[in-house]
Amino acid sequence: MLDWESGRVGAGVNPGRPVSWAVGKGHTIPASGISLSSMCRHATFNYSLPFRRNILIFTLMNFSSRLIEEAVNAFAGLPGIGKKTALRLVLHLSRQQPEVVEQFTEAIASMRRHIRECERCHNISDSTLCTICSDTRRDQSLICVVEGIRDVMAIEDTGQYRGLYHILGGVISPIEGVGPAELNIDSLAQRLQGGEVKEVIMAISPTIEGDTTIFYISKKLGGMGVKISTIARGISFGGELEYADELTLGRSIVARVPYDRGGGQ
Ligand SMILES: [Zn+2]
Repeated sequence: MLDWESGRVGAGVNPGRPVSWAVGKGHTIPASGISLSSMCRHATFNYSLPFRRNILIFTLMNFSSRLIEEAVNAFAGLPGIGKKTALRLVLHLSRQQPEVVEQFTEAIASMRRHIRECERCHNISDSTLCTICSDTRRDQSLICVVEGIRDVMAIEDTGQYRGLYHILGGVISPIEGVGPAELNIDSLAQRLQGGEVKEVIMAISPTIEGDTTIFYISKKLGGMGVKISTIARGISFGGELEYADELTLGRSIVARVPYDRGGGQ
């Protein structure tokens, strides 16, 4: 039963229904006055039994509607969405006008139907070429190599870069079974054959895997007449020197740059 005012489901479910608890080996504490109403959405239980301290997982979620339950399970399958958040979203949608929800679902379905990978840089795109690759105002002589799509978004948000991108799809990681063949490295080499690209900027995470990837790509692109650079690594802006780890501080010294009063331009 759906309470349209409160958005609560299951009002009227039998309060005596068994409750699933995950109880660990903690100290016994009195749990007087614990309200379970916000979790199971039915009549408030006031347990005063000696519960354990390590009560972490409360799994009961009573649904009186199979439709609601299926929608909650669909949302809960998304990364970062738990069952309670899923229920909140579903109840919100259940209170909207049907056409509003149809617009919502159509936007997602249309995205999935039409989204594709840019055939040049492997960014997400609505058409064969993404908006960045097809923007002729961008510097065609610069390619910034990144691991994933979100890196592109992060760099774009800075407003400091006007070149092109190339998305590898990850980094070389033998432990996880990712070799060069699994990454978009060959297509990067192919992009350089036209001779228009003058510099490749490696914007890869400063990890062992990242360094391995940079080393592999720099060897593969060696001899193609292209300058290869990496993004600067060192002390983060706002960070304090004494708290930096030795590796970061050491790299900052080695990769020092001339002081520029113009703000690093
Ligand atoms: Zn592209």
